[in-house]
Amino acid sequence: MPKLYIETVGCQMNMLDSELVVASLRKEGYELTASAADADTILFNTCSVRQHAEDKIYSALGRLKNAKRENPNKVIGVLGCMAQKDQGLIFKRAPYVDLVVGPGQLHQVPALVREARAERKPRMEVSLGRTDGSRDAIERSHESFDPLRDPAMRPTPYQAFVRIMIGCDKFCTYCIVPSVRGPEQSRPPAAILAEAQQLAGEGCLEITLLGQTVNSYRYRAGERTWRLSDLIEALHEIDGIARIKFVTNYPKDMTDDLLAAVRDLPKCSKYLHVPVQSGSNTVLKRMKRGYTVEDYREMLARTYESIPGVAVTSDFIVGFCGETDEDFQQTVDLTRESRFKNSFIFKYSERPGTKGAELYADDVPEEVKRRRNNSLLALQNQICEQDNEAFLGREVTVLAEGPSKAAEKRDELGDRLQLTGRTNCDRIVVFEGNRRQIGQFLPIVVYDANAHTLFGEMVTQHVGPEVFGLALPLATPDC
Ligand code: SAM
Ligand code: SF4
Repeated sequence: MPKLYIETVGCQMNMLDSELVVASLRKEGYELTASAADADTILFNTCSVRQHAEDKIYSALGRLKNAKRENPNKVIGVLGCMAQKDQGLIFKRAPYVDLVVGPGQLHQVPALVREARAERKPRMEVSLGRTDGSRDAIERSHESFDPLRDPAMRPTPYQAFVRIMIGCDKFCTYCIVPSVRGPEQSRPPAAILAEAQQLAGEGCLEITLLGQTVNSYRYRAGERTWRLSDLIEALHEIDGIARIKFVTNYPKDMTDDLLAAVRDLPKCSKYLHVPVQSGSNTVLKRMKRGYTVEDYREMLARTYESIPGVAVTSDFIVGFCGETDEDFQQTVDLTRESRFKNSFIFKYSERPGTKGAELYADDVPEEVKRRRNNSLLALQNQICEQDNEAFLGREVTVLAEGPSKAAEKRDELGDRLQLTGRTNCDRIVVFEGNRRQIGQFLPIVVYDANAHTLFGEMVTQHVGPEVFGLALPLATPDC
């Protein structure tokens, strides 16, 4: 059997793309290997959102130079966003690469691997750029690639990503995604529902709907226009699917019908990722995010009011072009008042080809970016810890995902082991359990907490909240 090694960097979209590529190559007889040295085919599914992600891939390619010289039969492929962005540059920097395949062309990977091995000629398959043709032609060149699934490549067999949109039309000035992932296109509800039905049949309990601005989902089918709330309502009817999440939300499209769906549909996770990026109107305008801090505050207040116990998370970019100490202080103030469950904080990384790179100087020194990153992270951690402490003594429902990181490190082999899972509002919980409980929803009482993890004990007839002397009113028992 030919062996495939695949390395994935970047977001959930990339994880899903890798799952689909692996499924298509398994159909050709490939088996996965964890070692690049053993592999006949080595694929990198890449990200180009920040420079650092690209540097990692170019270093990994550099390390393969000798392996390819020793075994010219090995096929080396660069897939995904960096392939679409850098195209021929990849062959220049690493001439021994065989394949460069953009995210819109992944359906071609099995044929391209076959041809590369037979013909020993480099091949590049990428989609049209955003100004290379009519909207229609560009859309068609970014093929969605979703029918094949491979349970072995999922985060766990009980959880799966389902793409509901591809591309993005927002063109935030710092972001490369609209160029490399193409125009925003919503998938037909019938295809999404069929995929979710198939996943449920395979034992999948939790689906996470993916889109760059997932709540901008719109699909016109005959007389009816489907919104995300309509789609979730339909998915909610599927037997076997027990939890529905969706990422990433665009603040301006957080409509009342969607908030009502999250509140009223019990399978819907009470967790919303709604990145704000900055707390300064000047910076938001320069980023072309399309909303003000006041708009974001209004959206957040509406969300907290509509959905009791909801957890909201955010992304921030610090050190964007022209960001002053005062702008950054406004980001700190917004973070302090917003009580995000968590925030992903990034230092601005200039991306050639974006409006930001064209219009503004990347003028915040690296040291200042680093300082702002650390100080915002410290504040967010403080908030995480305080909010997690509010869970002490509460009972939460956790989908047990598998062994905890510590159990994996200790390589625990027995039936009893430390497990990890997530609550309905996406909080990570670690607890002692039994291997056969993986993939079950379990009642857990929380007895300890730090910034990122709740520690709990499974509720049995004998172990309830009262045992810890911490019992609090279970205002939101399901979070
Ligand atoms: N579509 C999502 C949204 O609008 O929130 C985010 C997609 S992007 C892949 C994930 C995050 O990366 C963004 O929310 C932003 O914080 C960060 N990001 C994007 N471009 C960046 C850049 N040039 N430098 C640093 N961070 C960046
Ligand atoms: Fe990038 Fe903005 Fe689109 Fe998100 S909404 S993918 S940040 S352009």
